[in-house]
Amino acid sequence: MTPEDRHPDLRALIRTVPDFPKPGIQFRDITTLIAHGPGLAATIEALAGAVPAGIAAVAGIEARGFIFGTALATRLGLGFVPLRKAGKLPVPTIAEDYALEYGEARIELDPTLIDDGEHVLLVDDLIATGGTALAGVALLRRAGAVCDHAAFVIDLPDLGGADRLREAGVSAHSLIAFDGD
Ligand code: AMP
Repeated sequence: MTPEDRHPDLRALIRTVPDFPKPGIQFRDITTLIAHGPGLAATIEALAGAVPAGIAAVAGIEARGFIFGTALATRLGLGFVPLRKAGKLPVPTIAEDYALEYGEARIELDPTLIDDGEHVLLVDDLIATGGTALAGVALLRRAGAVCDHAAFVIDLPDLGGADRLREAGVSAHSLIAFDGD
């Protein structure tokens, strides 16, 4: 069974916006999913079902990773660690620069939020090339976390991100896959 078949109702709640933010990008918009109460609840339940034993904290990538990550952390009774865009945190940070499907970016982490050896699940809304998630994994590992699992609502498998995560020793769990980019 393909990931698409497992969650047909959730798939139907995701809006596809062609040519955003630039020509050729099929933007997979989760705002229509999170605005739908039962859809949001079912998404968090499905993500919770993919979380392996031993996870002690959830880390999410700004901004859409915060939505799913905090809801999932609450559902699991765990704390949430934000991986923020550059310049937002009021304390010393560690940073990773990375390339996006449509641009460049930097994320930052307050490393004091991570206990040494803590098993942290990385969460974002979508994995495309994997650059964002790999930057998140690198930050968490630099801070002392064990990060070998990541969860996404959407995977774009043709862009290879989940394979790149696997090569870095991270299992990628996703609910819905969209062919193409
Ligand atoms: P990547 O680093 O290439 O895996 O891109 C993943 C990040 O960019 C995630 O934070 C997504 O929210 C965002 N993103 C990349 N491609 C898309 C897309 N086609 N639709 C919606 N969001 C995207």
